[in-house]
Amino acid sequence: MSASLEIESRPAAFGAAPPTGDMPLRVIAPGRGSDAAEALARAEPLYARVKHVIPPIEWPVFAPDVAAILRLKRERDAVILAHNYQTPEIFHCVADITGDSLALAREAMTVDAKVIVLAGVHFMAETAKLLNPEKTVLIPDLRAGCSLAESITPEDVRLMRARYPDAPVVAYVNTSVAVKAESDICCTSANAKRVIESLGARRVIMLPDEYLAQNVAKQTKVEVIAWAGHCEVHQRFSGAEVRSLRESHPGVIVLAHPECPPEVLAEADFAGSTADMAAYVGREHPRRVVLMTECSMADNVAVAHPSVEFVRPCNLCPHMKRITLPNIRAALEGMCHEVTIDPALADRARRAVERMLAVR
Ligand code: SF4
Repeated sequence: MSASLEIESRPAAFGAAPPTGDMPLRVIAPGRGSDAAEALARAEPLYARVKHVIPPIEWPVFAPDVAAILRLKRERDAVILAHNYQTPEIFHCVADITGDSLALAREAMTVDAKVIVLAGVHFMAETAKLLNPEKTVLIPDLRAGCSLAESITPEDVRLMRARYPDAPVVAYVNTSVAVKAESDICCTSANAKRVIESLGARRVIMLPDEYLAQNVAKQTKVEVIAWAGHCEVHQRFSGAEVRSLRESHPGVIVLAHPECPPEVLAEADFAGSTADMAAYVGREHPRRVVLMTECSMADNVAVAHPSVEFVRPCNLCPHMKRITLPNIRAALEGMCHEVTIDPALADRARRAVERMLAVR
């Protein structure tokens, strides 16, 4: 039996797109005397981890912030959770826990520290706070949003429920707490098929990523009703781009994230979450590979696989890139940008996340 899919959308335009053009300005001051030398010396052992992807000339720019963040983590009893799309100096040098959305949600529950700094976007920090209501959760830049999370409101979810009253609502973790609170269960790109099939329903509403829903619908007999939201990073990839990459880089293995349009997945050798892609590279050791996802992912995976050639068609997520070493340092110094959750929504939203985490 073939899977079926319906696409829903709000008649008006989506919620205002988050700003993309005003990336924070960094002004780098030259290091001074013995302070700079001491910071460099403290951070030096970490450079060995990233020397394959950060040129030696750039490291002195990062080292003072790295050294300060390591000190501040001890002073504040803080841990840093970093998503796979964070830059290598964050991902490999100051983060304590790294991974995709699912891994960060799971690991957030095991954190034994008073403070969590979420190096990622806002919905990830909200999820960490939902699972750790007693801890202080900071996000270094409160403007770090997500085009998917912006594409749907709680009112939209209620509209979908009214239209399909028999269909449970599966919300991608890339949603606000208010949308999660209207949903039955959450999912990530790593577990979407398992979550949908765990419900035992004939059909489900899956929101807000249309392409993820289309790609999952191809793998299951459950009817999927989708919402027309998109990731502004992954929707820019195309099947023509994959074909062109294969021509210009003979033998390249193409791994694609399921938030990409279905035509991209049809041209790819493998489709999976960021964790699945990293596992593929570790398992198969391709000679030459391209990851159809956010730019920093390739840098972060390349650190562990220096013999693999990574072809890099670069699509940056402007929201992920709002997080920098200087603003992580500033958040810890000032204990600022704390994430709070509306108590009226917290229990319902947490239930949807915990229900997902219980699916194996
Ligand atoms: S990469 Fe896409 S889904 Fe991820 S935070 Fe950026 S806009 Fe959202």
